[in-house]
Amino acid sequence: MKILLVDDDQLDRALVIRALKKSNLDTQVSEAMTVDQGLEMYASNDYDVVLLDYQLPKRNGIEMILELRSGSKDNSSAAIVMMSSSEDEQLSLDCIQAGAQDFLLKSEISAARIKRALLHASTRFELERKLYATYQKVKSLAETDSLTGLSNRYFFDESLKQVLAINKRSHKKVALLVFDLDDFKLVNDTFGHDVGDLLLKKVVIRIQGCLRGNETFARLGGDEFAIMLGNLDSCDHAGQVARRIISVLYKPFDIASTSIKATLSLGISLYPDNGLTSEELFKHADIAMYRAKKNGRNQICFFEEEMQHKFHNRVKTEAELRLAIEKGQFQLYYQPVINPQNNQLQGFEALIRWNIDGELRTPDKFIDIAEETRQIIDIGFWVIEEAITMLARWNQKYNCALTMAINVSAHQLCDQTLVKFLDDSLKRNNVAAELIDIELTETALFLDTNDTRDVIVGISDLNCRLSLDDFGTGYSSISHLRKYPIAVVKIDKSLMPEKQGDLKHVALIESLVSMASILGLDIVAEGVETEFQLNICKKFNIQHVQGYYFSKPLTQQEIENKYLNQLITFS
Ligand code: C2E
Ligand code: MG
Ligand code: MG
Repeated sequence: MKILLVDDDQLDRALVIRALKKSNLDTQVSEAMTVDQGLEMYASNDYDVVLLDYQLPKRNGIEMILELRSGSKDNSSAAIVMMSSSEDEQLSLDCIQAGAQDFLLKSEISAARIKRALLHASTRFELERKLYATYQKVKSLAETDSLTGLSNRYFFDESLKQVLAINKRSHKKVALLVFDLDDFKLVNDTFGHDVGDLLLKKVVIRIQGCLRGNETFARLGGDEFAIMLGNLDSCDHAGQVARRIISVLYKPFDIASTSIKATLSLGISLYPDNGLTSEELFKHADIAMYRAKKNGRNQICFFEEEMQHKFHNRVKTEAELRLAIEKGQFQLYYQPVINPQNNQLQGFEALIRWNIDGELRTPDKFIDIAEETRQIIDIGFWVIEEAITMLARWNQKYNCALTMAINVSAHQLCDQTLVKFLDDSLKRNNVAAELIDIELTETALFLDTNDTRDVIVGISDLNCRLSLDDFGTGYSSISHLRKYPIAVVKIDKSLMPEKQGDLKHVALIESLVSMASILGLDIVAEGVETEFQLNICKKFNIQHVQGYYFSKPLTQQEIENKYLNQLITFS
């Protein structure tokens, strides 16, 4: 029997070792004098019993028991017998409660007594371990579905209730997805229950493959399943997960040399929008699922009309976006950038529009969808090429050196080919890089990975100017301005003072201007709509402004007619 004896008192240790020798037990004793020393030895050796003194320097024996029973090592490996000189009943109970198997009074230590304590503690400990293993097994049987290994309805229900209770405080959304296989009965009737069971297992494996792993996924019974998505910032995510689930079933399953096609109908309810309790959420997800079945199966239904509508629009937009470049539906509009001191045109910002059969869509209707589906990468290339080509044409035709600002989204910065594409486009069109401003938002800088940093630095190394868009709306951290080679900040329109007496905004603009000038940055004021705002910009010596006061974004033709075909100066 391997024993770890932890006691700071040398005489007490000698007493114990003598008693052990006399006991005729075959023991091997290692000695430690402090809790820390004991824990260290325990971590690197296997012991059958720890004989532990309560009164130890710095940390007492109970603290050591607690660490032994909660640490990362498989702590169920040793029984613990606590020793103390104190006859305090409560102390002995506390030790047992903390995880010791027996308690010995030092005054009572004898060969027979210590032998009995060691044997009883080991036996008791072994029984406790078995009991715990049985408990774990019963628990898992009670909570999991034996066919698929998923959680069962009981566990799912409990988890959902818990998550709802937590979310009451956090105000995040929770989505409940309930689905069942379409015509599963037919599979059972045609191929038999064994094939039906296999199909269920395979369906589960495919669905698990498209989940992140932090969702609760359960088989409620038969061919009915549920998934809970917690901590959602937006409901759109629930729709995306649901679509992934439907799409992983596109490929048929090969089971018992038969190819079986499975589809499912899925209903979604949302907390807190569609219910505050698990019962309500289940009821509403079920209703949505039956609606999905009634509408023709193999589809997704939200409980709420409005969500359903949003979801449909999104799916439609995604599909339309895929063809938009090919069909030549994108168009750039250009908003003039003006020097307010002399009203001279300095350049433009290129702003994308999506023209579907005469209906002009602004970026807020599609850019975030394009970003999520990564279609923004190709759209972004199109924008860069189009804007640079247009600038080359204008500068040549009108013999000027106007600038062009191009918006680039965070996702584009993860694409290492962006810098080369930009460089090629500049060369192809014979445009000087200094005339191009690449506009980034702070969200893009927040990604801050090595890849994005390489792209950002690469753009600046080409000699294009990096411009920080919408400054003052998001996190607006000065550290970004110092960390990246930013040359321009664009003060967001929301910071423009609205009227005389809006002293707060005036002071804000003034301080931003002085900060930018200290950092050597150029400033563009966005959203200048009124003469009052223009005068503020003039007063603070802002060199570039953009806004409806001068012009809305215009088409190529309009820009040529209104600006380029005339004198470039206007008033
Ligand atoms: P942004 O880059 O901050 O562009 C300025 C937005 O403010 C434009 O909206 C512009 O039309 C609008 N605006 C300009 N002057 C005024 C004004 O005086 N008052 C008001 N209220 N608004 C003014 P737009 O064109 O709808 O673009 C919205 C956003 O979409 C842009 O914000 C930009 O972040 C993004 N975006 C536009 N084009 C592209 C693009 O080609 N690629 C990417 N990734 N994003 C783009
Ligand atoms: Mg911009
Ligand atoms: Mg902006």
